Amino acid sequence: MKDFHYQPANVHRVSVDDDALLFHVPTTSLFALDEMDGAVLDFISGREEGISFDDLEARFPGEATTEAEARLENLLRLDVVNDGRPLKPERPPIEIENFPLTTIVLNVNTGCNLACSYCYKEDLAIPSKGQKMIFDTAKRSVELLLQENPDRDSYNIVFFGGEPLSNLPLIRQVVDWSEPHFAELGKEVNFSLTTNATLLTEDIIDWLDAHRFGLTVSMDGPKALHDLNRKTVGGKGTYDAVAKKARLLLSRYRSKPVGVRVTLTAGVTQIHEIWDHLKNDIGFAEVGFSPVTSGDMDAFNLNGDELAEVFAGMKALGERFLEEALEGGNIGYSNMHQLMQDLWEGRSKALPCGAGVGMLAVNHDGALNLCHRFVGSEMEQFGSVDTGIAREELASFIKARSDRTEKGCATCRIRNLCAGGCYHESYAHFSDPLKPAYHYCDLMRDWVDFGIGIYARLIREAPEYFHNHISPRRAFGK
Ligand code: SF4
Ligand code: SF4
Repeated sequence: MKDFHYQPANVHRVSVDDDALLFHVPTTSLFALDEMDGAVLDFISGREEGISFDDLEARFPGEATTEAEARLENLLRLDVVNDGRPLKPERPPIEIENFPLTTIVLNVNTGCNLACSYCYKEDLAIPSKGQKMIFDTAKRSVELLLQENPDRDSYNIVFFGGEPLSNLPLIRQVVDWSEPHFAELGKEVNFSLTTNATLLTEDIIDWLDAHRFGLTVSMDGPKALHDLNRKTVGGKGTYDAVAKKARLLLSRYRSKPVGVRVTLTAGVTQIHEIWDHLKNDIGFAEVGFSPVTSGDMDAFNLNGDELAEVFAGMKALGERFLEEALEGGNIGYSNMHQLMQDLWEGRSKALPCGAGVGMLAVNHDGALNLCHRFVGSEMEQFGSVDTGIAREELASFIKARSDRTEKGCATCRIRNLCAGGCYHESYAHFSDPLKPAYHYCDLMRDWVDFGIGIYARLIREAPEYFHNHISPRRAFGK
């Protein structure tokens, strides 16, 4: 009978230059391994049948025994080695009764003034045919937010569409009502929206600035790439109009840095070229990439080779990110920045995102959805602003999705960073949001391994990066 058994699902060993590291899967923490740690781990991991104290003593005789036992103790504490006691489940499925909402997403108009060829929205309509939310629905949505989680100091209202600026009168009404309302309650309210930029004017920009909106522009890169899919209703490319408005926005927006979100679809995989244009030619503070693999129209999804190209490009840009970060700079690369933040904070996620727990999205007619991407979809809804949250249904969805039993995620080394992936990806890919988004796990694991390497270099050579670029952003983003 052996006393100690290696738990491979809890450990991932990584080498960065000459340093050996242990990525502790349950807590997403990183530990440096010295020679003795490495030797003890090698020994235990090489023995499928486990080891006893006698085995350890035989392998590390004399003075080394005490040292090896101390290392074994550490590994036991981390659940990297088990001594026969039943392992406590790392994450029992989440039982939830209350929904600590911090964010409400308002779909202010299903209409959009553009007709991007890959758009995923099932309810998309041109602005004149769009269904607009009325103020009463928006107000009830905000009241629901406060009612569900009354004790917070700060809340977020996100305007979404279609193109949210195509219902600017409602956005103004919501802001004009919310600001004094939250102030009276002694609370803070933050606004944000994602826009295609085409409807921006100087007046609108200044108004958004005065209310400190967090802004993200949707733009896909230089003209040839952007115009492939981002088109007017008449089928013309929109690059010229979007680039002009984006420059106008960036020339006068002062309250917060403005980011850009790039949708990567079939044929759009040129990561460095896109980043360079959007960051250096247009001047966005941050560029974030969203690869599309599960859109409704298969022709727009990245195929396997393209997806591999995208991840290779993202890693190459990651090298550039590292170079700059080692010199104290920041190239404004959201995907890498987010990964650094997750690792730095030791985030260990039971769920991939806040959808359905800290955040709900409201249809134009008041129905409640997991998040903005489900608005207008066929997916079941979870109550409405009139009847309240369908608690049982939502709780059972969260419980089922957080239950990793018998899913590949249960032993995956990035399970507490990925947590099964985006519900909408699963819904779009498998017509089942409960199923983990399994379809590019290897690339995701490789991306996280790459990120761990970058993180380790920064911690060792430029730890100030985290204080200069992660902490301020946290404070800023609240
Ligand atoms: S979806 Fe894939 S990558 Fe994500 S945790 Fe599950 S197995 Fe791992
Ligand atoms: S479900 Fe997907 S799209 Fe929706 S908030 Fe979560 S990660 Fe984002």
